[in-house]
Amino acid sequence: MQLIGQMMNRPLLVSAILEHGSHQFGAQQVVSRETHGPLHTYTFRQLAQRSKQLANALRSLGLKPQSVIGSIAWNNYRHLEAYYAVSGLGMVMHTCNPRLHPDQLSYIINHAEDEVILFDSTFAPLVKVIAKLCPHVKHWICMSDQAHTPVIEGPVVQCYEDLIASHSSELTWPDLDENTGAALCYTSGTTGNPKGVLYSNRAIVLSALSACLPNILNISSQETVLPVVPMFHINAWCLPYACLMSGAKLVLPGPKLDGASLYELMESEKVTLSAGVPTIWMGLIQHLEQNNLRFTTMRRTGVGGSAMPKALIAKFSEVYQVDVRHGWGMTETTAVATISNINSEEQTWPEALRHELVAKQGKSVFGIELKIVDEEGNTLPRDAEAQGELMVRGQWIVDNYHKAETTALVNGWFPTGDIASISADGVMQIRDRTKDVIKSGGEWISSIELENAAAAHPQVAMAAVIGVKHPKWDERPLLLIVRKQEDFSNKQEILDFLSERVAKWWVPDDIVFVAGLPVGGTGKVQKAELRIQYGSVFSE
Ligand code: ADP
Repeated sequence: MQLIGQMMNRPLLVSAILEHGSHQFGAQQVVSRETHGPLHTYTFRQLAQRSKQLANALRSLGLKPQSVIGSIAWNNYRHLEAYYAVSGLGMVMHTCNPRLHPDQLSYIINHAEDEVILFDSTFAPLVKVIAKLCPHVKHWICMSDQAHTPVIEGPVVQCYEDLIASHSSELTWPDLDENTGAALCYTSGTTGNPKGVLYSNRAIVLSALSACLPNILNISSQETVLPVVPMFHINAWCLPYACLMSGAKLVLPGPKLDGASLYELMESEKVTLSAGVPTIWMGLIQHLEQNNLRFTTMRRTGVGGSAMPKALIAKFSEVYQVDVRHGWGMTETTAVATISNINSEEQTWPEALRHELVAKQGKSVFGIELKIVDEEGNTLPRDAEAQGELMVRGQWIVDNYHKAETTALVNGWFPTGDIASISADGVMQIRDRTKDVIKSGGEWISSIELENAAAAHPQVAMAAVIGVKHPKWDERPLLLIVRKQEDFSNKQEILDFLSERVAKWWVPDDIVFVAGLPVGGTGKVQKAELRIQYGSVFSE
C-alpha cells in the first residue's frame, strides 16, 4: 500500500489570490484608464474592499453559487473587481468578447445562461441590440457611476456604483472545492458556434503561478505590468491574478489601445512589463518610429495570440532594448502554454540567431506536455523537422467544452488544430493553423513563415498570406500587404526579397496592396474574411 502524504489539502482558490494581494501588498496600486478618460488609481486593499462590496451586492440580488455573470467590458478596475467578486463567491465570470457579432454574442450569453450582464457604457448601443435576444438576463448593470449610466430603450439598467454603495466590505469568502468553475470564455467560433471553456479555480491559480516564474513572464513586486491582452479573452493571460499574487503594480489601459495612448500610459506609469498580440505592438512601434521616441522603463513584453514576426522581435530588442517573450496559448489552455526564452548559453549567440529562436513559440511551461501527431494519430519525432498536429495536455487544459456531451480530447490529449514541429530540446514552432496552411501541389506552405519573411521588408507595415484556389496546384499563396508608404507599388521588389528568404515554390503568385487588414476582437487578422474576398482571384 502506498503511503499518502499528510499535508493539508487546502484548495487553490481565486479568492485566496485577492486575500494574499490585499494583505501582503495592500498599498500596491491598480491604475486604470476610465472608459470616460481620466486615470483612476487605488490600492490592492481598496480593490479587495470593493470586490467584497460587489460580492455582497450580487448575493443581495438573489444570485447563488453557480450563477453565471457575464461581462462586456474593457480592462479596467471595475472589471477587475468583478473578476474577484464573482469567482470568489463560487459563481462563474463569463467574459464576453464585445467584438463578436450580436447574434454570436447573444448565442453565448444564452448558452452560458448568464443571469447578469456587467457592461461598460461604451457598449450601451450593443446592449440595446442584444437585450432583446437575451430574455433570461435578469440584471443589466452598467459599470460606471450614475452620471455615465445610460438609459437604454428596452432593458432596465442599474448603476454599478449605486448597486455596491450600500453594501458592506465585510465578507468571508466561501471555502470552495478548487475544481469549482471560476471563469468562462468562448472560442471566437470562426467556424461553427463558439464553444465555452469553463476554467476552474485550480486551473487559474496554477496558470497564474506559472506566469510569475522567471522563465515565463518573471512577475514580481518590482514590476509594473500593463496587460493589453483583453480581460474579455483568455483571462488576459491570467495577469490580473498574477499581479495580485506577486505584488506587481497593475496598469489597465481601458478602451484606448492605439500606439500613442499605450505609449503615454507606459511612460506615465513607468510600466516595465506588458503583454499583447503582435498587431498591437505594430501600432505601438509605428508610433515610436514616427515620433522618434524611446521607452524609459519598459524592459520586457509577452507577445502571443498570433506569430510575432522576427523583424519585430529584432526591433524591440535592438532598437528599444525590450526583451520579447513569445508565447503560445489558446482559449482552451487558460493562458500561456509555451513561451520562448533565452538561456545563458544562447545569450552569447549572435543577435540574429537569438531572434530566430524567440520567433519560435518556445518550450512548454511546467505542467503542460506537448506532442505532434500525423493524420493517423502516430506521434512524430522531436527533430524540429517533422510537422504534425500539436496535441497538448496538462492541469489547465480543457477537457470538455461547456455543456458538450462528449470530451474534446483524443486519447487524453487536446487536439489544437495547429501544425507544429518540436525540437529535441523541446522548442515548439507553430508552422500554421490547419485551416490556414496552404496546400500547393500536395505540399504544405506555411502562411506564418511567409508573413514573417514579408514583415522584414522595410515597406511592409502588415502582411497576411492566404491560400487561394488554383486550377493547377490546388492552392497558391496570395500575399496581402499594408504598406508603410502609400506610393510604394513595386511588387517585384517584394517578390525578389521573398525569393531570397524562402523556397522558390513558396513565393506568392501575386501581391495585393490593401489599405488595412480585417482584425478581429482579439487582434488577429481574420483570414476567413480575406478568403471570402480574394479566395478565387487565381481561378477568375
Ligand atoms: P481564435 O484565434 O480561434 O480566436 P484563440 O484566441 O484561442 O482562438 O487562439 C488560439 C490560436 O491562436 C492558436 O491555436 C494558434 O493558432 C494561434 N496562436 C496563439 N499564439 C500564437 C503564436 N505565438 N504564434 C502563432 N500562432 C499563435
